[in-house]
Amino acid sequence: MGFSIITKVVGRHAPPPNQTDYWQRYRDFDWQQARLGIKGHDGVINIAHEAVDRHVQEGNGDQLALIWLGRQGERKTFSYRQLQKLTNRFANLLTALGVAHGATVFSLCGRTPQLYAALLGSLKAGNLFCPLFSAFGPEPVRARMGIGDARVLVSSARLYLKKVAPWRHELPGLEQVLLYDCHGDCPADCLDLDSTLAEASETFTVCPTTAEDPALLHFTSGTTGLPKGVVHVHEAVVHHRYSAWCALDLHPGDVYWCTADPGWVTGTSYGVIAPLCNRVTLVVDEAEFDLERWYRILSDEKVNVWYTAPTAIRMLMKAGDALVAKQDLSALRFMASVGEPLNPEAVVWGQRVFGMPFHDNWWQTETGGIMLANFAAEPVKPGSMGRPLPGITAGIVQVDEQGQVTELTEPGQVGELALRPGWPSMFRGYLHEEERYRHCFKDNWYLSGDLAWRDNDGYYWFVGRIKELIKSAGHLIGPFEVESALLEHPAVAEAGVIGIPDEMAGEVVKAFVALKPGYEPGDVLLKSLMAHARKTLGPAVAPREIVIKDNLPKTRSGKIMRRLLRARELGLPPGDISTLESDEGSRHEK
Ligand code: ATP
Ligand code: MG
Repeated sequence: MGFSIITKVVGRHAPPPNQTDYWQRYRDFDWQQARLGIKGHDGVINIAHEAVDRHVQEGNGDQLALIWLGRQGERKTFSYRQLQKLTNRFANLLTALGVAHGATVFSLCGRTPQLYAALLGSLKAGNLFCPLFSAFGPEPVRARMGIGDARVLVSSARLYLKKVAPWRHELPGLEQVLLYDCHGDCPADCLDLDSTLAEASETFTVCPTTAEDPALLHFTSGTTGLPKGVVHVHEAVVHHRYSAWCALDLHPGDVYWCTADPGWVTGTSYGVIAPLCNRVTLVVDEAEFDLERWYRILSDEKVNVWYTAPTAIRMLMKAGDALVAKQDLSALRFMASVGEPLNPEAVVWGQRVFGMPFHDNWWQTETGGIMLANFAAEPVKPGSMGRPLPGITAGIVQVDEQGQVTELTEPGQVGELALRPGWPSMFRGYLHEEERYRHCFKDNWYLSGDLAWRDNDGYYWFVGRIKELIKSAGHLIGPFEVESALLEHPAVAEAGVIGIPDEMAGEVVKAFVALKPGYEPGDVLLKSLMAHARKTLGPAVAPREIVIKDNLPKTRSGKIMRRLLRARELGLPPGDISTLESDEGSRHEK
């Protein structure tokens, strides 16, 4: 589609990228070396120690750890020393309540300081922590807390009363509910978190967790089906720290903003742990996506490194270039994206409008951290997910009916994206689903469920999820290719592509698009979209039909739910919609 490779020039005031010679590092990399960067000893390793206490011990306690921006315009800051005290208080509180080591602490919080205190404090106390997204309704909250054997819940009084109180009796194992913002009216069977925290001691000896002790429980996005509970251990911190150093180019003292909620793995791994381990200053915004607010944050907080998602980028693109030109974004040095395929158009838009491309990277809840990335010092290929991080062995494989795995070594061959197990943040299980976990590994490969190919330079290109692949008249069509082509059309803001059954072809491609402001739906536009698709994709791959919608169904983490588009199209049951962000079709389903 003719997008050229973007090579970059390091700005005069920017620090040199951390990783300058990719191949050299790839050849020389040794996880033992990366482990030395972690302060654990004799097998003792604790994520929260690496993220917080370590910096205080090393004399950097006065540096800002967190800038919190409240919904109503409040701004609070926490130095590393203050964060240490706050998280110690929380850890002391759990200990005083007699919460057993290893017991699961859930949070159902907005992005408030209490959430960060609970997450890091629970890790200090040696508990398994599971952050839930606060917009979940009562049922998804109940289901996840049931699967995760919740013993403690941290929430606001408002969220608790609305989403947990009505069914709390169904979870007898839930021993403690700690509520903030009670305003003197804490329910009798709960504890007022604000006042108990204020009374707790601010010194604490971090629990001597070992590398394999469970630390975090994350539920997947539910894009392709029922969300799975994924378990990560304390050793993951080795990968978190190192991967943010090389793939996000974090330097100590950077101001860094990850827009993901800690309820998704990105918002914890790269919204809390990895950046703090690299001693940066985190920006945390309590509010939801808002164009003007986002640009204001980038400019007012002088953000140096920004990590966001394709859906957000497409919304910014939809609003046009003029808004960007009005901001002072001179501090911004590096922009990255994850979560969904990033169409080449968006990468090039970044270069044109921000003066730097978005660096796409790829990983999953299961991998715990970034696996493939476009790096700061390397050319960016728009549309590619980049190359494996040093320390990560990726491959393209084919699995036959008998479960035999063959590696496809020729560039350009499409197959399943697979990884050699053994990196520190690899998941250690799907909670209560041992069989499913074992199924992910074959012949010493971890099978990702995504299809991709590798080019001559070792860059990986996303084709689609195996479950979403369209088989039409002998062609295998990845929805991403078709969606990317549609997104090149000036009228298209979002696109979702599915296969629908067809007697002749097996399946045919059907596309749903949402328009940018100023474009009117109608026959003329549809014809123009179709002509564009046929010209760029050819008639065999172009959609048979294109439908214009106001909105496309997305998960709350911003991924297009193609399975839901398909279910609606075919009149099938919608399946699990616990992670669905509301859209025009969801009113009847919720
Ligand atoms: P579920 O497993 O419940 O269906 P999910 O796979 O969307 O949900 P996550 O673990 O949050 O849950 O997402 C990982 C998936 O997101 C990857 O397997 C891939 O399909 C997609 N993804 C992530 N980053 C990228 C990227 N840079 N390009 C293309 N796809 C990506
Ligand atoms: Mg998945």
